[in-house]
Amino acid sequence: MKTITCIDCEEQFSGETPEAIMQAMMPHYMSDHKDVMERGTEEGKKEWFAEFNKRWEQA
Ligand SMILES: [Zn+2]
Repeated sequence: MKTITCIDCEEQFSGETPEAIMQAMMPHYMSDHKDVMERGTEEGKKEWFAEFNKRWEQA
């Protein structure tokens, strides 16, 4: 079980796998970071995943 802080705020999410945490984050992104998802570019998504994976490895 690892805990990762949201890339765009201080909210924390826990899960056994990166996929589980991403699924838990999804509704949060839909409600709190809708603008991030809507304005997201391919480059921005790559950076998001890179940051997510970095946090997962450090968690
Ligand atoms: Zn957030």
